Amino acid sequence: MDECDVAAELQQRDREGGLRVALQAAHRETVPLVINGERCCLECEEPIDPERLRANPGAVRCVACQEKMERR
Ligand SMILES: [Zn+2]
Repeated sequence: MDECDVAAELQQRDREGGLRVALQAAHRETVPLVINGERCCLECEEPIDPERLRANPGAVRCVACQEKMERR
């Protein structure tokens, strides 16, 4: 498997996670973590509250981890 195959496979996985997520990822430096089609926190890997994603579709961390990041 060469690098192109790996890239194609990653893209395929993105599509399975949801095209919208992949499109958002293309416009952001931070790629959201998707587990079983659910957006999860990059830090603790817990699913992100859907309410939070509605208010902030680009969120890649849960509220607790985001607050920790911002306090640093
Ligand atoms: Zn978290």
